Amino acid sequence: MKKKIKWTALFLALVLFAVGIVAILKNSHYLYIFGEYLGVNCDEVELKKSSLENMKKIELKALKADDRVKFDQSLMLINSDHPLKDDHELSLSEYKDTGVQLNKCLNSAYGELSEAVFEKTGSKLFISSSYRTQEEQQELYDEDPSTANIPGTSEHQSGLGIDVYVQYYAGFGFIKTDAGQFINSNCWKYGFIIRYPSYGKEKTGMKYEPWHIRYVGKPHAKVIYNNHLTLEEYIESLKNGVWYKVDDTLISRQKTDENGRLSLPDSFKSAVISPDNTGSYIITINNAQTPNDKKSSGFNNFTDFFEYHNI
Ligand SMILES: [Zn+2]
Repeated sequence: MKKKIKWTALFLALVLFAVGIVAILKNSHYLYIFGEYLGVNCDEVELKKSSLENMKKIELKALKADDRVKFDQSLMLINSDHPLKDDHELSLSEYKDTGVQLNKCLNSAYGELSEAVFEKTGSKLFISSSYRTQEEQQELYDEDPSTANIPGTSEHQSGLGIDVYVQYYAGFGFIKTDAGQFINSNCWKYGFIIRYPSYGKEKTGMKYEPWHIRYVGKPHAKVIYNNHLTLEEYIESLKNGVWYKVDDTLISRQKTDENGRLSLPDSFKSAVISPDNTGSYIITINNAQTPNDKKSSGFNNFTDFFEYHNI
């Protein structure tokens, strides 16, 4: 008799186990989240140090007047250690006559991302929150300090962070959808990162927010996502004054010298410069993707590269 009870109990345990497995597989977003946590979709990207020759020190004022240089805010680190300054200058523009205010630097990139989501998943992407004023952030914080950032430390106040959703699936539910999973694994291709990834709580101080995307620009997003980093870790990893190379892009984080100058190659085609909100600037020199540029992957040194392209 006792033996029979034992076998029945074992059988029931097995049935429960099987039901559990089926339930997990049915809610496959748990498996998806676990995969992202482990970085299964990441493909490590090397950020190589590069020694450049023929550098020139240029004053910020002169760089701002240079047609080849675009200043934006794409690499500002905004968190409780680095709040927005009181004199922070807003750089906003309206997204496609929707009344939604986004940081200027990401307006067209968001359009590309939104189109890709529709194309790949058939879902229309909506924005639930983009730019917020100090007062709006204060209200949210007063309502629930456990979910809203302290005023001054939210990316929403710069228009750089956006909360997105698809119909019926907002907040954490977003990751249950194909669109949510597409964005979490692919938004780097459009210059965005998941600002508070599942693996980043110790660095960002924030729980996983699969719906909060942040624009940083394509080369940076590629390195951050594929190397399984947070924005905090990425910016820390860029040593001041060093030049790095990823694909055909040169990246350097620098403080201005005593005369307010940054150091750039003597000749370049175009550059984007963003303050990083930690006291430095991040310079990104993108080279146009012409057939000749593609050959550049064979160059070991950028002096050769610049000479070859006569830039
Ligand atoms: Zn948000």
